[in-house]
Amino acid sequence: MLLKLKNYHHSYSESVLTLENINFDLKKGEIVAILGNSGSGKSTLLLSMAGLLEPFSGEILFKNKKILKPSEKLIAGHSDIKIVKQDYGLFPNMTVAENIAYELRYYEEDYRKSKIDSLLDLCEISEIKTKLPRHISGGQQQRTAIARAIAENPDVLLLDEPFSHLDLQNKTKLKTILQKIIKRNQIGCAFVTHEVEDAISLANKLIILEKGKIIQIGKPEYIYNQPINEYTARLTGLVNIIKKGKKTSLIRPENLKICNAKEANYQGQIINVSFIGRGFLIDIKTKKNEVIQFFTLEKPIQVEIFLSIKFEHEFI
Ligand code: ADP
Ligand code: MG
Repeated sequence: MLLKLKNYHHSYSESVLTLENINFDLKKGEIVAILGNSGSGKSTLLLSMAGLLEPFSGEILFKNKKILKPSEKLIAGHSDIKIVKQDYGLFPNMTVAENIAYELRYYEEDYRKSKIDSLLDLCEISEIKTKLPRHISGGQQQRTAIARAIAENPDVLLLDEPFSHLDLQNKTKLKTILQKIIKRNQIGCAFVTHEVEDAISLANKLIILEKGKIIQIGKPEYIYNQPINEYTARLTGLVNIIKKGKKTSLIRPENLKICNAKEANYQGQIINVSFIGRGFLIDIKTKKNEVIQFFTLEKPIQVEIFLSIKFEHEFI
């Protein structure tokens, strides 16, 4: 076990808890995504994991040893846990290579030089090593910050919203680089995000945060198919939420398929068609005025649609 949070509570002010009774762990080689709405406490949780915040109660263990609180030590944090914040925090008057070199300033020169080269190569920033942060793109700044964070081979890498300002090409690049780093160095990685696609495609474990509480932890596929509540269902993708008396049923648009009248669970008129690249998202309105969304590869030619359910998940 690399990192473990036990009954952890955090508060910025005495009256309100920002994080309440947080329990989970991060293992070697594991990628954890913390997913939640804006204001749910994601950044606070990440800073807490880095040992940078004073806990209200509970504790954080690193390799089974309690991390000292900021008030108990000279410099807050832990040298084997690195965090890349949203603003990257690069030194503006140092080049890319100098930013990384600074982190390695206490090492012998030969080692430092070869380590910088390998980090530049790994993070695909060799070509811009002599440039200043303001002269490179956001994606390149971020990769410089990551190179700097892993320079001293930490055991844990934490990233705050790493995908939020990246275009598709840079996102893909970042995912590949992170996977390489985690595999090569056998570190544990946690990142926070509000976008499900990034969480699902990279993480082996999802943590759902709602108003400072963890409401579900599990494998991405599991949470996607069996979300614990409506908040989690909506956070993890497009979904139809259908109330049936006391029960609520959740059906993902891809789990509805066009069928004939006899097999149909739903019948309705098409009211909207959106092309989404890999297919079409279609809204139908039923006689009961329910709007139901389904996914199909081919654009239907008929207006009246019959749908059958391939998979649904119910919660009370
Ligand atoms: P997220 O990253 O999920 O958007 P945050 O962890 O930034 O959420 O914030 C959680 C809650 O704590 C919010 O209500 C926010 O306003 C509050 N908060 C965040 N940082 C501070 C701070 N430094 N001082 C006081 N309140 C804060
Ligand atoms: Mg945040």
